[in-house]
Amino acid sequence: MSLMTRPSNPQFNQGTRSEIGHGVDRPYRGRFAPSPTGPLHLGSLATALGSWLDARAHGGTWLVRIEDVDTPRSAPGADRLILDQLQACGLEWDEAPVWQSQRTTHYQNALEQLITIDRIYGCQCSRKQIEEVLQKEGVLIKPNQELIYPGVCRERKVSIENHALRIRLPHECQISFTDRDLGKQTQDLNTQVGDFVLRRADGLFTYQLAVVVDDHLQAITHIVRGEDLLSNTSRQIHLQQCLGYQTPNYLHLPLVTNDAGEKLSKQTKATAVDITRTESIRENLCRAANHLGLQNDPISGSITQWLNRKVQEWQERHFM
Ligand code: GLU
Repeated sequence: MSLMTRPSNPQFNQGTRSEIGHGVDRPYRGRFAPSPTGPLHLGSLATALGSWLDARAHGGTWLVRIEDVDTPRSAPGADRLILDQLQACGLEWDEAPVWQSQRTTHYQNALEQLITIDRIYGCQCSRKQIEEVLQKEGVLIKPNQELIYPGVCRERKVSIENHALRIRLPHECQISFTDRDLGKQTQDLNTQVGDFVLRRADGLFTYQLAVVVDDHLQAITHIVRGEDLLSNTSRQIHLQQCLGYQTPNYLHLPLVTNDAGEKLSKQTKATAVDITRTESIRENLCRAANHLGLQNDPISGSITQWLNRKVQEWQERHFM
């Protein structure tokens, strides 16, 4: 499905398209931030390609960040494999990749900043307890659904040691931002998300905190990523505001789905891009480009030549 024609996410209100570079006056810095749960497949390759093309089309800098903050979910060796796959596909990065597992001091510092301004509280609710409270309130819960935290521990003064830590949202917390393709998005964090977790009971920092801190410290101006993360963006903007960070420009790309309409992932048994076979690399790159709304022309010369053509195409499609 092309970027131009896809339907909007029904959870969000759609508005008008914004200009490229909307709200950002710093030199372009983009990033691809894979979680190393497995090798790249067509879906993650399409995200990497979209983010790389956008950076190159802007004459910007492109970084790779390995998001292994959730260490138990990381597959051994997947980080190296992803980097090899990116290189085999000609998607070269401009600065040394970073690993979130080595950056916990930065997340701790940000957390302490939030504790100082009284935006954090300890929470001892288990998922089961939260489900019970919500069920009593008449909320229907589907399996694996993200739960809107009903605020049980907000006033309980639970210790912040050895417990999950949640952000305390202000009473009014409606966040709006403009996605470059999907237009204006608005989410009410209180009614659609609730106080969310920044550090889990096992001590691991969550994606929400780590991604915001890293995007800030790496001076990322443009985030180009999959549409599955659209509903996380308001949370991240709220955190940026609490921490005094600038908000980057956002573009959420359409997801690649399988015949059953499911997002390609390790769970849905997506096939890895096989870099031992030139054919697999070329075929996956062409399909990824086509998925992003670019022409499906085969790679006849070098991958670099083909990528240069795609950069031009991306510029024509997005800048004119
Ligand atoms: N690590 C996330 C993922 O692989 C992406 C995070 C992001 O781009 O913000 O889904």
